[in-house]
Amino acid sequence: MTPADGPRPMLIGGQQVPGSLAPLVSIDPATGAINHLVGSAGPAEVDAAVACAAAAAAHRSWSALLPPQRAALLHRIGELMTRDAALLARLQRLENGKVQAECEAQVRSAAATFRYYAAVCETQGSELTPARGDYLSMTVHEPYGVVAAITPWNSPLTMEAQKVAPALAAGNAVLLKPSELTPSTALELGRIALEAGLPPGVLNVLPGRGAETGAALLAHPGVRMLSFTGGTASGLRIAEAAARRLLPVALELGGKSPHIVFEDADLDAAAEAVCGGIFEGSGQSCVAGSRLFVQRSAWAGVLERVLARARALRVDLPDAPGAQMGPIASFAHRDGIERIVDAARAGGAQVLAGGGRPEQARLARGAFYLPTVIAGIDNRAEVARREIFGPVLCALPFDDEDDLVAQANDSSYGLAAGIWTRDFPRAWRIARALQAGTVWINTYKQLSIATPFGGFKDSGLGREKGITGMRLYQQAKGIYVGLAR
Ligand code: NAD
Repeated sequence: MTPADGPRPMLIGGQQVPGSLAPLVSIDPATGAINHLVGSAGPAEVDAAVACAAAAAAHRSWSALLPPQRAALLHRIGELMTRDAALLARLQRLENGKVQAECEAQVRSAAATFRYYAAVCETQGSELTPARGDYLSMTVHEPYGVVAAITPWNSPLTMEAQKVAPALAAGNAVLLKPSELTPSTALELGRIALEAGLPPGVLNVLPGRGAETGAALLAHPGVRMLSFTGGTASGLRIAEAAARRLLPVALELGGKSPHIVFEDADLDAAAEAVCGGIFEGSGQSCVAGSRLFVQRSAWAGVLERVLARARALRVDLPDAPGAQMGPIASFAHRDGIERIVDAARAGGAQVLAGGGRPEQARLARGAFYLPTVIAGIDNRAEVARREIFGPVLCALPFDDEDDLVAQANDSSYGLAAGIWTRDFPRAWRIARALQAGTVWINTYKQLSIATPFGGFKDSGLGREKGITGMRLYQQAKGIYVGLAR
């Protein structure tokens, strides 16, 4: 589609419906060009979508499906995503600027998420409880009915799959609101789900802005559960609004994750992972290892390795062969990152790599920012405390284990952490002491769909992925059967 084709419609009850609010303008952050327009859902569309979803959730064609039937549909969605992988990866790249290879990997993992929840759906049923009297008791897990899913722009399809697949596996109908910056992969997912045979209305896709479409979903009494991934400030606003009507919410929020290197680590492997952990996706990852803690005795060796890699990283147009880092996903976000780094520099921080825009003329129209490494600060500095969500690494020294754990945990966030050491008992002690929902030892950013994921502290509420990730979208009911008469 081009802008001249007009706004792309949304998906409500299996029908393509135009939006009533000002359309979203999708911009390619690599070039500044307008990709296309997308309709934005207002209260009328939200109302219509909730009605369709509620009807679909109650209809026998969805609610009465047996787990193997539901699983077959989820499996088929995964297959069709794989068939359409080139289109999905291209749309994500055009909308958020991630390099092509990363977009392709994310499409593969999103398809695998649907296949995984197909299997979970088939294998996880009711549970019998050992008898405690003259009765039999069992636990059944029932869907909420209508679930809303609100997702961010950094890994759109990954996040959409991570919510939609388990919510459908659990038997709900879903209202999906993608980020205003990246609406297209969600619309494609809706199209694919219909083609796979999902009954109309079971998955509705409502692009729009957070304060408009997102807020309308949150306020709608027909929505019975809400799953949100995004910034902590938005998450707090959502939690407050949800509390007023006891709406269950799952929140996957921001991070400022420590990546720790001890002197006995494989320093080359650690430096490689540290750079991947912060520069992949231009640092726009919730689990970005943005605070590098280095044991003081290894400071020079680690910094030398990290800086060499940061400076050699190929920043380029995201479809250029060999590109390792594309632009920041929007111009406004790039400008915000620039302001934070400039303020840190003005406050006396040492910018050891990057700290500005690339010089190549072919990148001048895009929202690019160089891989940046900052030192000469402490863990309480603004640049080390706030989530920048960009390719900015803060390097900090530590003396011993206690000092390290105190500094690493001195953060309002608690999403992830990485530890590099050959001393396994030490790695284990630290992994247990860190306040983080995910800890990697001698690896970083490897994620399995089968392992629960979520945040401690201000990084969120609830756990996605794994079997827990499906239970998030169900409410347990105990049923007792008397055996005496
Ligand atoms: P954001 O909070 O600005 O927006 C996320 C989504 O929420 C968007 O769809 C937006 O339209 C919507 N939204 C915003 N305000 C809303 C409101 N008041 N009511 C309803 N909906 C609202 O976040 P973003 O900039 O899109 O994403 C970046 C953030 O997401 C970072 O903080 C990052 O750490 C976080 N994130 C977390 C995870 C995780 O799993 N923990 C994964 C990816 C991204």
